[in-house]
Amino acid sequence: MLELRPNCECCDRDLPPSAEAYICSFECTWCPTCASEILKGICLNCGGELVRRPMRPAAKLADNPASTVRVFKAEGCAPKTAA
Ligand SMILES: [Zn+2]
Ligand SMILES: [Zn+2]
Repeated sequence: MLELRPNCECCDRDLPPSAEAYICSFECTWCPTCASEILKGICLNCGGELVRRPMRPAAKLADNPASTVRVFKAEGCAPKTAA
């Protein structure tokens, strides 16, 4: 079962289960803006493909709640710019 993590690992924006979000096969979780504009569709952590996270129906969330464990890259996620 997907964890449905509650935030973007890059910008820490809230991503409730009903929000559009992008994940890789390891469930690294990103908001649409970071996924497209910063990560260019490739997971920063594992280099894997990012796909749109499926939405879990509200009726299923009662018995299968989304994760509340926030994962956040404190060191930042912007691409390293060569000086
Ligand atoms: Zn983000
Ligand atoms: Zn990943």
